[in-house]
Amino acid sequence: MPDTPAPERHPADSPYHRRLPIGQRLDASAVDGGPVPSIESMTMLPLDEMLVPELPRRGELDPGECGTCRVTEHTLWADEDWQVKSGFDETGLPFIGAIAPRAHVLLEDAPVELLAGLGPLMQRISEAVKLVPGVARCHFGRWNDGSAHLHLWALARPAGMMQGRGAMLAFWDEVLPPLEPELAETNNRIVAEALAAGGGRAFPAR
Ligand SMILES: [Zn+2]
Repeated sequence: MPDTPAPERHPADSPYHRRLPIGQRLDASAVDGGPVPSIESMTMLPLDEMLVPELPRRGELDPGECGTCRVTEHTLWADEDWQVKSGFDETGLPFIGAIAPRAHVLLEDAPVELLAGLGPLMQRISEAVKLVPGVARCHFGRWNDGSAHLHLWALARPAGMMQGRGAMLAFWDEVLPPLEPELAETNNRIVAEALAAGGGRAFPAR
């Protein structure tokens, strides 16, 4: 099948976009200090032009190229509908997991019956992550800008880390010293076994 040429991209146009200072460097002082001080000084890059249509995400054009559906050695827990993966990247937090349906679905087209299972699963994951020594809370994030396949992130906030409250925790993950592989494996195993105790299987591909 011949490749279809990429559609021509053009600046996005909406009441929101028309007021943006594209090309200018914006003042980031509202981020410095802020309600949860973590950053002393931050300099933003100039605001890039916003072009549409956007480039396709991984697995958007060809679900066969989607890695999110596959059960791999990084799958720490799975049941018939959902899986949780971890350990494919270094983390400075006690635990990070990716939560995704087993089937290749987007949030937009996921069956309501499948989505109905997500709330109880988030509750189970939160409780499992808090069993990891040194963890106070489990944060959840859903961006879906990289892979099209519906997925959420579970991030463990270290106990007592007031600078890690809110969305700032994702930035701290990049800068805290990466977990030693043995500690990462121990923590993954704690989460996997706690989840499996409520149904499903720990490490189904190992
Ligand atoms: Zn997929």
